[in-house]
Amino acid sequence: MTWNDDASRDLMSLGGRLALLTRGEGSWVWDADGNRYLDFLGGIAVNCLGHAHPVFVEAVASQAATLSHVSNYFATPGQLEIAARLKRLAGTGEQGRVYLANSGTEANETAIKLARLHGGKTGRTKILVMEGAFHGRTMGALSLTPKALYRDPFLPAVPDVVTVEHSLDSLEAAFADGDVAAIMIEPIQGEAGVVELPDGFLARARALADRHDALLILDEVQTGSGRTGEWFAFQREGVIPDAVTLAKSIGAGFPLGALITFGSASDLFYPGTHNSTFGGNPLASAVANAVLGFIEDEHLLDNVNARGAELRTGVAELPLVTATTGAGLLIGIRLSAPVAAEVRAEAHERGLIINAPTADVIRIAPAYTIGDAEVHEFLERFGEALAAVAVPAPTSEIPACAALSERMETK
Ligand SMILES: *Cc1c(COP(=O)(O)O)cnc(C)c1O
Repeated sequence: MTWNDDASRDLMSLGGRLALLTRGEGSWVWDADGNRYLDFLGGIAVNCLGHAHPVFVEAVASQAATLSHVSNYFATPGQLEIAARLKRLAGTGEQGRVYLANSGTEANETAIKLARLHGGKTGRTKILVMEGAFHGRTMGALSLTPKALYRDPFLPAVPDVVTVEHSLDSLEAAFADGDVAAIMIEPIQGEAGVVELPDGFLARARALADRHDALLILDEVQTGSGRTGEWFAFQREGVIPDAVTLAKSIGAGFPLGALITFGSASDLFYPGTHNSTFGGNPLASAVANAVLGFIEDEHLLDNVNARGAELRTGVAELPLVTATTGAGLLIGIRLSAPVAAEVRAEAHERGLIINAPTADVIRIAPAYTIGDAEVHEFLERFGEALAAVAVPAPTSEIPACAALSERMETK
């Protein structure tokens, strides 16, 4: 059975499937034909301990054998522990609170409801979002995702969402228009191609939100849980949000999302206003505690920073690469031509998993546990993939154009 069998049609998550994966260990995965791939996408910034890590396996197995689910009429020790841990790591102090969901989208839905509760007190309804933002696929989160392909087939969206451009002027103007309940920002936009905000943007958003009594909500679904080399990307900027959402790496492959609130935003929800059957169930909580505890005990964030720096240096030497963006082990690799899809395909052929969020960007988000061997292996395979795509220096215009059009046809 392979990805293009009729059976794959049964899955409604539309879009091409690259391979049928059957097994993983560390930073490697195997497909059904026994081919081995170096996984530098990590399930889209999820598998922070790689695959089948003993800490993950032990947490799932022992919790499954003890207590795997209770209703939300009860609390469990693991829930209390993860809430306290997230408050400590985020630096909320006593006032902070934590809501546990099952995914990034759901954590963001919760944040949207938080914005509504806050705005409801003053009659403000507007939510500001960033150009290029990705906040998820459910109707609320989708309404905050201003990408035509994702959103427009499903209009009408949740109203009063205003898009801000990546400039301080646009930010000022959006607040000056009034009526703002909240602004939601990804500190680094992963899906947009690992795009960074202009210098000082978060600090300015914080100041304007304060002045207009609006909430600053950070979507750290992709950047949080240590991915950028700090527990949260906002800690790199010294800005304190009113709320932050998490998912992806927090469960290292087990579905879990979280909303963390700071200060008075912690008092907005009251009993009956929000809940989830599965959110933060004992299995998910046990895994998140084990994963985050391991990252902390092993000082893995040091490795995230060190390996991230090595990768950036190594990648800068390779053909087609013009720059790198992002932080820690969330890295955007900018190419000099719109050939990211071809590079990804060539990498796949060479047993390397990466992705191409835009036409000229490759994104990597490997495990926090990678070492010399994985860095070396990546640079070698990625360099070969780039070289296979790079157009040789043209001796005259005609052969170069011919080479390019031939490649595009076979894509
Ligand atoms: C992945 C992602 C989401 C959606 O999370 P899901 O777990 O897929 O629902 C939301 N925001 C950002 C920034 C993301 O990267």
